[in-house]
Amino acid sequence: MRKQIAAANWKMNLTAQQGEQLLNDILSAEHTLNVNRIAVFAVPFPYLAMAQQQLAGWEHMYVSAQNCYSKKSGAYTGEVSVEMLQSLGIKYVVLGHSERREYFNESNQFLADKLNICLEYNIAPIFCCGEPLEIREAGSQNDFVGRQLKESLYHLSAEQLKNVIIAYEPIWAIGTGKTASSEQAQEMHAFIRAALAAQYGNDVAEEITILYGGSVKAGNAAELFSQPDVDGGLVGGASLVAAEFNAIIDALK
Ligand code: 13P
Repeated sequence: MRKQIAAANWKMNLTAQQGEQLLNDILSAEHTLNVNRIAVFAVPFPYLAMAQQQLAGWEHMYVSAQNCYSKKSGAYTGEVSVEMLQSLGIKYVVLGHSERREYFNESNQFLADKLNICLEYNIAPIFCCGEPLEIREAGSQNDFVGRQLKESLYHLSAEQLKNVIIAYEPIWAIGTGKTASSEQAQEMHAFIRAALAAQYGNDVAEEITILYGGSVKAGNAAELFSQPDVDGGLVGGASLVAAEFNAIIDALK
């Protein structure tokens, strides 16, 4: 079975105290997790060490960064390297979120460089892809997402790709309250898996976890996650509310 993941993306929200409280509220609920059914918390950089400490001793719950830089180390003021993340024991990093692509001009090529360095340091990238509204309205979403995959991922070997998690996040559904229907999500996830199969073979494609992101909440998570190619979610707004995220974790297959 593929790994099913409920991933929280806190984005640039919460004070340290609020973050600590939120994690405590999530840890104090009962969750049935195992190696193939995990929760991941992508917290802001300043909270990584705190979150690592809070989750220490909890199985199948992991801290993630929301970004990293593409260089090993050096004179890059304000940036965070994968070696720094590794030295804290961080296992995951979100890459290529549409907000980073839009506000910080992250290109497919730049993301390919970031993927390489994460894989070199054994940090699993949660690679985000997804189309804006005008592309969806023009019906070219498959071409658009296919190109994101090709330009950022296809230089990887099959062994490397197996460590990548993909998150499909249609931009028109992020923070808008508008969710892709479960059929729309399944259709795109199946397209992504077929594209990976064409490039790497069926066995590899079947192993890749593909998350859906875009207005996932307690009320729609089970329906979205029940789709055969939807392996969990990358959750923004609803991950900031313990009761919501607890229910989303429990909605995993
Ligand atoms: P929302 O869940 O707030 O729509 O955000 C989705 C997202 O961007 C997760 O990375």
